Amino acid sequence: MIKDSAQSNNGAHLNGHSNNGHQLADEIGENHVGTSYDTPLRPDAFEKDDDLKIELIAKHFKEIMLILGLDLEDDSLKGTPGRVAKMYVQEIFSGLKPENKPSITLFENKYKYNEMLVEKNITFYSNCEHHFVPIHGKAHVAYISNGNVIGLSKINRIVQYYAKRPQVQERMTMQIANELKEVLQTDDVAVLVDATHLCVSSRGVQDVNSQTVTSHYCGIFQEDESKRKEFINYISLNSKNEI
Ligand SMILES: [Zn+2]
Repeated sequence: MIKDSAQSNNGAHLNGHSNNGHQLADEIGENHVGTSYDTPLRPDAFEKDDDLKIELIAKHFKEIMLILGLDLEDDSLKGTPGRVAKMYVQEIFSGLKPENKPSITLFENKYKYNEMLVEKNITFYSNCEHHFVPIHGKAHVAYISNGNVIGLSKINRIVQYYAKRPQVQERMTMQIANELKEVLQTDDVAVLVDATHLCVSSRGVQDVNSQTVTSHYCGIFQEDESKRKEFINYISLNSKNEI
């Protein structure tokens, strides 16, 4: 199921051209406030194919470089617009495209393992949707099987799919949790994300030490504190956001 419905999200007023609108948009961006659960997409988000998107982004990125005063005749810079465009569409923002969502096969839980399964330290790279600079960190995921299991690498792929979008960390955490709930057909899912935002460390307040932690607990993880503690214990055995 495609969850990211095209929508006019409740941040639509940010598109207004009044000064107030711009001020509010600036504040929301600097404070890293997300406006909606779904990635805000335009209704025509997938009307252009990837090749056309690459061509158009390259053209516009070239303009940005020219405005900055860069000499695009220089051999070192010549290929940059095309490289950036390709990287955006095929790599770091490829998770915007529903057809890039990993297909998941469920297996029967033959061993009747009904304890918590934890997949921790899943390294991810994303990009802050407010500044378009990297967010990187670790995602930790747990679930309790209701009779089905998925291949461990699929959990990583789900994390990567939602990371490869312009993101807000809280939204990414929820999107991963909801996808796992749907795929595994259970509510017993926990997701914890521990990340560094380069828009905080490399610019703005330039705090190189802060990390941002977000979590989403569902089902038994929400109801039973001991399950949350068990999950935290497993991930804190050796959990550092070190890349
Ligand atoms: Zn940011």
